[in-house]
Amino acid sequence: MKPKTRLIHGGIFGDEATGAVSTPIYQVSTYKQEAVGKFKGYEYSRTGNPTRHALEELIADVEYGHAGFAFGSGMAAISSVMMLFSAGDHIILTDDVYGGTYRVVNKVLNRFGLEFTFVDTGDLEAVEAAVKENTKAIFIETPTNPLLKVTDIEAVSAYAKSKNLLTIVDNTFMTPYLQNPLKLGADIVLHSATKYIGGHSDVVAGLVVVNSEQLATDLHFVQNSVGAILGPQDSWLLMRGLKTLGIRMEEAVSNAQKIAEFLDQHEAVNAVIYPGLLNHTGHELMKKQAAGFGAMISFDVGSKEKADELLAKLRYFTLAESLGAVESLISVPAQMTHASIPVERRGELGILEGLVRISVGIEDVEDLIEDLENALN
Ligand SMILES: *Cc1c(COP(=O)(O)O)cnc(C)c1O
Repeated sequence: MKPKTRLIHGGIFGDEATGAVSTPIYQVSTYKQEAVGKFKGYEYSRTGNPTRHALEELIADVEYGHAGFAFGSGMAAISSVMMLFSAGDHIILTDDVYGGTYRVVNKVLNRFGLEFTFVDTGDLEAVEAAVKENTKAIFIETPTNPLLKVTDIEAVSAYAKSKNLLTIVDNTFMTPYLQNPLKLGADIVLHSATKYIGGHSDVVAGLVVVNSEQLATDLHFVQNSVGAILGPQDSWLLMRGLKTLGIRMEEAVSNAQKIAEFLDQHEAVNAVIYPGLLNHTGHELMKKQAAGFGAMISFDVGSKEKADELLAKLRYFTLAESLGAVESLISVPAQMTHASIPVERRGELGILEGLVRISVGIEDVEDLIEDLENALN
């Protein structure tokens, strides 16, 4: 089955009870038992719900994994995965990881005795140097946000395996349509489904897929115990989103390539970061491990003032946090998504005050380029 077909025919197709082609929204908390302990697979919706289950089967299929899990947000998914570990365990993370991930590990999970080290996971030697006796996992995000640095998933996974460590990949930016970390040797892949998977700026959700029965048992135990589950209505919206993920990504990636090339030759733009450009350090690696370069572009206009000026003039790029929607979005990471990262740390990472990030949508690319041209001139 090819990826676009898998998005539509993967998982559980339709509803067995009624023949409904779209899995119904089972808005229910509990299930009638015929006798104590005698029930049809569902007893209570925190433990399992048919609509959520259909989504979990579908995401497991499209990420080529063993089992899927749906959570109330990307952060709920990440936090639940972190609860697979115990006090005293050490985890290595990509240095310019999503701001919310940085915050939850440094301000919440550290209070429970988990230890974290941030390294440039694009540099395997740096990863190796960070491994300690109590290291249990390597958490990577690739490409990163907003600098779009690329990590070799296959190389890190192979190294992790040799040291008995788990490899966890935040695959939000690439989606299961463009990149499948489990196929490259990772153990756990997760998504903020709020972004491309939902795709329409109308749902907050997180998804996780694991590659083994043991991890499935352990993560289901955490999901049921902690309870950060996704509701049936939002589960249904994600299944609806997944059906069109393939065509949406094709369009967004194609638009992004054209926009990156346009920005790259514009004199008001200092530097354009997009993996689809030949000058991007991760270009070849992206070609090897992904089916496309994604639809996120960062570029530097020189200062906070110039960034503000650009924002004020744009018509089709909506100023908003988040990304991955049908509509193009724009943000200034230093003032928005990455404001929770201390200013010195932002400087170290290279998140400049004039750095602008765009999430390219699926509008007509000619309108998008014209809009940018008018605003930049
Ligand atoms: C948005 C995002 C998250 C967090 O997801 P929420 O759904 O907002 O909780 C995690 N990782 C990445 C890469 C993201 O873009």
